[in-house]
Amino acid sequence: MIAENLAHLRSRIRKAAQRCNRKYQDITLIAVSKKKSDEDILQAYTAGQLAFGENYLQEAAAKINILPDDICWHFIGHLQRNKAKLAVSHFAVIETVDRLQLASLLNTHAAALKKTIKILIQVNIGEEQQKSGVSPAETATLLTQIKKMPHLQATGLMIIPPYCPDPDDARLFFIKARQLSRQLADKGLFYDNNKVDLSMGMSHDFEVAIEEGATIIRVGTALFGARTY
Ligand SMILES: *Cc1c(COP(=O)(O)O)cnc(C)c1O
Repeated sequence: MIAENLAHLRSRIRKAAQRCNRKYQDITLIAVSKKKSDEDILQAYTAGQLAFGENYLQEAAAKINILPDDICWHFIGHLQRNKAKLAVSHFAVIETVDRLQLASLLNTHAAALKKTIKILIQVNIGEEQQKSGVSPAETATLLTQIKKMPHLQATGLMIIPPYCPDPDDARLFFIKARQLSRQLADKGLFYDNNKVDLSMGMSHDFEVAIEEGATIIRVGTALFGARTY
């Protein structure tokens, strides 16, 4: 079932990429496996899926410790200060950095572990009151400060647009994110300004996100089915 879902998902990604003259290989699918079992993850892995996303540190650490070593784990949940160390030790990419204090703590822990980690800046693109993420206006300042942290590589932006029942209504937020990432790259604020990641698009809107430039899409439900608890 999961293998079939994955094949279907890949074909939808390929078609969306074709529609906008982009390369399928330039889009990384993150299989969002929060609340899903090791068995489910292994089914996707066996079908060739190597990148997974998790939201909850403790749950993720338990999985990461026993699942295959060549899986690339992305942290996509809200990150608390007291979990920063666990995040640095277990994840290849932390997608939800949205404040200076947190970045600084991640840098310190990465230095202690003698490693460099990739991060994305989570931007509150819809400027919603209750949502995590730095405001678009403050993103340049945050990136300027992160540039000085030798153990962090800020490779792009991550966004979760306001929920739109019709995914086409999310398009303007994806466009906004792309434009913001361009401006920031023009200022030279990312780790590699010629290759900036845009993590956007989930099960119900990833095709629109791809059309607007997503390089990373985070898909759970369409791959693993609904989360039941
Ligand atoms: C859960 C989650 C996803 C995946 O959502 P689906 O709708 O199940 O595809 C993607 N991104 C983030 C940040 C999430 O928390």
